[in-house]
Order: sequence, then C-alpha cells, then structure tokens
Amino acid sequence: MDYINKEIPKMFGNLVFNDSVMKNRLPKDIYRSLKKTIEEGTELDINSANSIASVMRDWAIEKGATHFTHWFQPLTGITAEKHESFIAAQQDGTVIMEFNGNELIKGEPDASSFPSGGLRATFEARGYTAWDPTSYSFIKGRCLCIPTVFCSYCGNVLDKKTPLLRSMEKLNENALRILNLFNVEGVTHVSSTVGPEQEYFLIDKKLFEQREDLKFCGRTLFGAKPPKGQEMEDHYFGAIRPRVDAFMEELDSELWKLGIFAKTEHNEVAPSQHELAPIFTTTNTASDHNQITMEMLKRIAEKHGLTCLLHEKPFAGINGSGKHNNWSLSTNTGKNLLDGGKNPITNKIFLLFLSAVIKAVDQHQDLLRISVASAGNDYRLGANEAPPAILSIFLGDELTSIMESIADDKAYTGSVHSSMKTGVHAIPGFRKDTTDRNRTSPFAFTGNKFEFRMVGSGMSIADANIVLNTIVADSLSEFADTLEKTEDISTAVDNIIKQTYIKHKRIVFNGNNYSEEWVLEAKKRGLLNLKTTADALSFFISKKNIELFERYGILSEVELRSRYEILLENYCKIINIEALTMQQIAKRNIYPSVSRYIKSLTELYCLKKSIDIAFEKDSTLLQIKKLTSLLDSLHFETENLENTVAHSKNIKNNEELSFYCKDIIIPSMNRLRAVADELETNTASSYWPFPTYGQLLYSV
Ligand code: ADP
Ligand code: MG
Repeated sequence: MDYINKEIPKMFGNLVFNDSVMKNRLPKDIYRSLKKTIEEGTELDINSANSIASVMRDWAIEKGATHFTHWFQPLTGITAEKHESFIAAQQDGTVIMEFNGNELIKGEPDASSFPSGGLRATFEARGYTAWDPTSYSFIKGRCLCIPTVFCSYCGNVLDKKTPLLRSMEKLNENALRILNLFNVEGVTHVSSTVGPEQEYFLIDKKLFEQREDLKFCGRTLFGAKPPKGQEMEDHYFGAIRPRVDAFMEELDSELWKLGIFAKTEHNEVAPSQHELAPIFTTTNTASDHNQITMEMLKRIAEKHGLTCLLHEKPFAGINGSGKHNNWSLSTNTGKNLLDGGKNPITNKIFLLFLSAVIKAVDQHQDLLRISVASAGNDYRLGANEAPPAILSIFLGDELTSIMESIADDKAYTGSVHSSMKTGVHAIPGFRKDTTDRNRTSPFAFTGNKFEFRMVGSGMSIADANIVLNTIVADSLSEFADTLEKTEDISTAVDNIIKQTYIKHKRIVFNGNNYSEEWVLEAKKRGLLNLKTTADALSFFISKKNIELFERYGILSEVELRSRYEILLENYCKIINIEALTMQQIAKRNIYPSVSRYIKSLTELYCLKKSIDIAFEKDSTLLQIKKLTSLLDSLHFETENLENTVAHSKNIKNNEELSFYCKDIIIPSMNRLRAVADELETNTASSYWPFPTYGQLLYSV
C-alpha cells in the first residue's frame, strides 16, 4: 500500500498533455502564445500549431500511442472519435510518424452520422471539428485524444461543448461586472466549478447477457420485485465486496492516469448500486471528465466480468441512479463566491450571487427541467426516491431566516453558525453544517455550492450546466445593468437582494419534497410540475427561452429548434425500441417458457387422474387454469402493444408522437409488464427464461 501511495502522485495525470508537460516540452515562445490562446482566446498561428503538434506527437508516441483522434461530444450524449494513425508513407516504401498543425487544429468527421435535428441538409453532410485548447489532450489506449468542438459546415453548432464554453464565458463576463463594482482585488476571471457525483449499478456480466431488455434498452422491462429489495438499507456504506473492490481499484488508477480526481466511492442505498465522486473542477473539464468516467466505468467493469448500468432506472421498484451536479462559482484568486463565510449577513457579494441563483432558478424552472429530460429519467423524477419533477430550492433554516429578515427589514436575530456540541471536551465544537441535509430537494444549497440533483446518471452534464451558467449570467447581467447606473451602490445592492427575494421566494422550499402536500402547495405557488419529458419539451422553444439563448449568443433560434427536434426524436425512438423489445421478449421467451411449464403441469395432472388422485379442487389443475388465463392476457396485451406501436407510425409530428408515446404506448407497456411479472411469480424458476431481479441484484 505504501508503495502504491508513493506511486499515485507520479501516476496522476500521466496520460495527459497538461500544463506541466507543455511547459517542459514546448519552446518558450510557443508555450507563451498557447497560454495566451487558452486564457484570452487569441488565435494561434499555424507555425505555433505545427510546433505544438510535433511535440504532442513525440510525447504521445513515447506513451505508446499510434493513432490520434478528434474527440468530441455530439448531440447523442456520448463522445465520438474517429481514429487516424500517425503513419505517413514515404517514397521508399517505409513510413514515418507524422502529425502536423492542420491535423491538430481541424478535422472533418462525417457529420451525417450524428444527429443534427435538420441543421445539416443532406447535400451538405460536411461538418468539422476544431481543437479546443482549453481542454487538455490525453491518451486512451493507443490513441491520442484531442478535445474538439463540432459544428456543421455552415457554422451551426452540433455539439454540447461549444454552448457550454460560451455559457461559461457569459457567466464570467457578467460576474466580473458585479465584482468590478465592489473593487475586488486581483480578480480577472470567474469560472463555474462542478463536481458531479456519479451513481451506477454493477451486475454480473453473464446474467446481463441473458437479458435482452438490458442489452437493447439498458433497463429491465420485466421483473417481479424480489423478496428483499432495499428496505433494510444494509448496502449503503456497507463493506465493498472483493470483486467490486478490485474493479474500483483499477478504475481509480485508470482515472488518475487521465488526471481525473476520483475521490470517494461508496455503496448506494439500492443493492448493487454505487457512487463515485470526483473533486470538483472547472465546468468544461468536469464535463469532459465525466464523459470519460462513464466510458471507463463500462470498460473496466467488462474486464472484471461485470456490467455497469448507467441507466436512470434499470430496475422498477428499486432506487434509480442520478448524478448530483454540485455547482459553484470560483474566482481566479481562489475565492468561492457562494461561500457566505463566517458572517453571511454582512457578505453582500455572497448575498448578491445567492440572489442571482434564486432568481434564475425561479424564472427558468422549465429550462432546468428540460436540461434533465429523457425517457429514462422520467422513471426517476417524481418517483419517491429521487427529486420530484417540481423545481424548488432548499436554502436551509439559517439562510432562509437571513433572507426573510432582509425581506422584512428586520434585524437578523438568529445565531450565526451555531457550533455543534459533541459533549466531548476534547473535540472542538465543529461548525455545524448550517444547511443540514435535505435529501429530497432537487436543488439544494449545501454550504458553499448548489447541488442540482435531477441530472440523470447516463446523461452528459453539459446540458444542465449550459442552462445553469446561462440563467445565472442572465440574473447577474440584470443586476449589473441596475448597479452600473447608480451612485449609491450600497443601497442599490441591498435593494436588489431584498426585492429579488420578495419576488422569487416562492421557489424556496425547505420541507419534504416527496410529500403530497408539496405538490398541492407548489401548484398554489404557481410552480411548474412537468412530470414527463413530453410535458417538459414543449416549453423548450418558448419565446422566453429563444430570446435568452440568443441574447447571450449561446444558441441561435435555429440551433435551439434543432436540439428540440433531437430531444423529441430520441424520446420517441427510445420508447419505440422498448416497446418492440417487450413484444419480442413476451412472444419469444415468456410465452413459450410458460407454455412448456403448463405442459409439464398438464402431464402431471393427467398422471394424477390416471391413478385417480386428482381431486375436484386439484392444485395442479388450479395452477394450470391460472397460468393459462394469465398467458391469454399476456397474448392480449402483447397484441395491444403491437397495435399501438403500429398506429404510432402514422403520426408524423414528433411533438404529437411524444404525447402518444407517453399517454398510449407507455401505459400499454405497463399493462403487459404487469401480466408478465405475475406470470413470473407463478412459474417454476427452472422454466423462467431469464435471470430474475433477485439474481441480478445479488449477483456480485
Ligand atoms: P456530499 O454531497 O456527499 O456531502 P461533498 O459535499 O464532500 O459530498 O461533495 C460532493 C461533491 O461536491 C464532490 O464531488 C465535490 O468535489 C463537490 N464540490 C465541493 N465543493 C464544490 C465547489 N465549490 N464547486 C463545485 N463542486 C464542489
Ligand atoms: Mg451529494
């Protein structure tokens, strides 16, 4: 262990072309101009690019790389890469390893294989990738991965990274406008920081292979509840099993080599569920890292005979998986702007930024909900274990009473930071977490950051952070517009804090978000309750949202509409695939298996009759009758589902189709599932065609 501990610092970031590598290897003037490009966005000339490319190539080859790729984040939600080898043929039949500035800066993947939502006319399938020097290149396997942005040939944005970078820039700009008014020294840059806590399931790969629903859809479409679910909560923080432990050890070291700060790992509430939390970092890096983390989770699980499920709800009736997006704002001088410090009530900068978030979340509940909308996450949000579909902010008692006292023009009387009495003198009274945990809140202030908990486990965190950054930039910009015009800053600041809270306090809720009363209360307060993706998406292209994204140059109306189309299309496609998979499993696996079981029961019954021991209420006969009737229902519901899916093919409008999926197809799927699950509990396990929940969840 000691040996390993010493190795970690050496190993950390070993496969990353990071600042220290660049500083050591690049010629001084080139390093300086690259830094300028990274920090100020200046253009890099081709000579510098050539020089960087050759240094990068030598470094990558030393690390065993033979190929390079432009690594980007198209609108599919996963990352894309097209490997090209470094080799270049020579006249004499030999090869040399080559990589130049042009190849570094620009690539041309075949854009037609990525979703564009109508942005890319088929005659113009070209798209290009452009190097993003603000993210470090890294080596994965034998490939040098160069982070890039991705756009269509006419310049329309086709990825998640470009708007994320733009939103960070707008947030920086407007946060600086505020800080400049306070004459904060040394601050030249504000970044949003993110630490996403990643939840996932690990199951045995051999069992996974036997479930077509898991293979095609990433979640189980059938499965009766096992006798033991998660009610004992004994898995949470329980000892990590050896196989999982070996997996985590390898995962850590692979992530560390890639400069990813994987920090804590523990079991989650549900059996087989785990969580990985990294140390927070700048948002675009956090977003890159989370994509790589998801990929590594899957890949390393395979090596250990496991399968990692990143779906938001792999098992009905068992907790789903999310990604808590911890978000804050940090200055280049290392100050966290959402840290209220010892005396938050006098910390005007803190209160102003806090107000900006409160206003943003209230005004743009719809956008935050949309940023986490997917067919998979619909099963999670609103089921009583994850945040509800209603957006609200948890501020905690102390901060709420501070804000209330400001709104009421009353002196704040509560104690600031009561220290926790441990009752043991030797232990100093540590600062009580003033935001004592509220696990049910979708958007919780947790001391010095906000935790947005609605993000789904399988999603890119880019979408949620594009929205967060943009809407907070919008609040800050509005504040700055007012403040820049006034002589008396101090009074104006107090006024903004007060008025913002009065206007937007309906979004603050410290109670139990899972309760029925909250649903009613939220409705009274006029908060949105967008239960499903279909409900949420129609808000996406409202006038308010188009104006917002255009005002800050994050996405144009055309780009926004194309994203809307892609989201709708994905939603409908996923449900279509699930419905088809269900039909197939019901017809080809469940029906034949249960029939065989009925046949064997029938043989038994005939035998009983032949020796005259079948009574009137013979149990075998009763079981045969029950199963036969359930099997008829299975057949009926399968046909029903087939008909609804067939009908959906006539619906050409995607919005209409999304509601049809939600209102007709999903309920039909649920009815088929209910019958199948009842069949499962009534069929001998040796006849059941695939592993049950009990086997899947307790397999590792
Ligand atoms: P928990 O939520 O389990 O209490 P922590 O509060 O320690 O755990 O942190 C959870 C996550 O929040 C970690 O990934 C951590 O890096 C991240 N985090 C902590 N501070 C910040 C910050 N200022 N900005 C963004 N993320 C942060
Ligand atoms: Mg957390």
